[in-house]
Amino acid sequence: MTESTLYCYVHPSRPTLLRCNNCERPICVSCAVRTPTGYRCKECVRGQQKIFETATWSDYVIVFFTGALLSGIASLLLLAITSFIWFLVIVLAPLAGVTIGNITRHFVKGRHSRWLNLLMGASIIIGALPVMLVLGLGGALVMFSYGRSDIVSSLFSLGPLLWQIIYLVMATPAAYSQFSGLFIRK
Ligand SMILES: [Zn+2]
Ligand SMILES: [Zn+2]
Repeated sequence: MTESTLYCYVHPSRPTLLRCNNCERPICVSCAVRTPTGYRCKECVRGQQKIFETATWSDYVIVFFTGALLSGIASLLLLAITSFIWFLVIVLAPLAGVTIGNITRHFVKGRHSRWLNLLMGASIIIGALPVMLVLGLGGALVMFSYGRSDIVSSLFSLGPLLWQIIYLVMATPAAYSQFSGLFIRK
């Protein structure tokens, strides 16, 4: 095959060396759009944006409330479990995150946007806040009542709060990547 001169598919009179790296059609300099993955034609860039921002306003509401509710339940369950077997948090926190990410993803049926992914992560944190607030206040009260006489006991009173923080640190990225990552793979 001989390499013949390429002409822009929008402007057939303009010879060019560029091709859109998505649809492979030749494009001239004024038609090429620079993207992180290379030069693309305007049509492909527009099509891509449509795919990336498909979430409707109700998806934001659903994702936020589902994420926050499930995260609240997970943080309560974790509170119950860690008072018996503390190290289970390391296994259960990412598992909870993945499960919450999967369930919420199911609800939005493949629609997505960057803000929706961020909201998903935020809902995990907000859902665990009520439990953390109670534990923080409770812990502070216990600490106050022990006073300085028993520093070890007073530090232990903040233990449950610590497990909640570990839960958030592990579950939030797990939920976020589960929720957003699968869209990229598609
Ligand atoms: Zn293209
Ligand atoms: Zn052109």
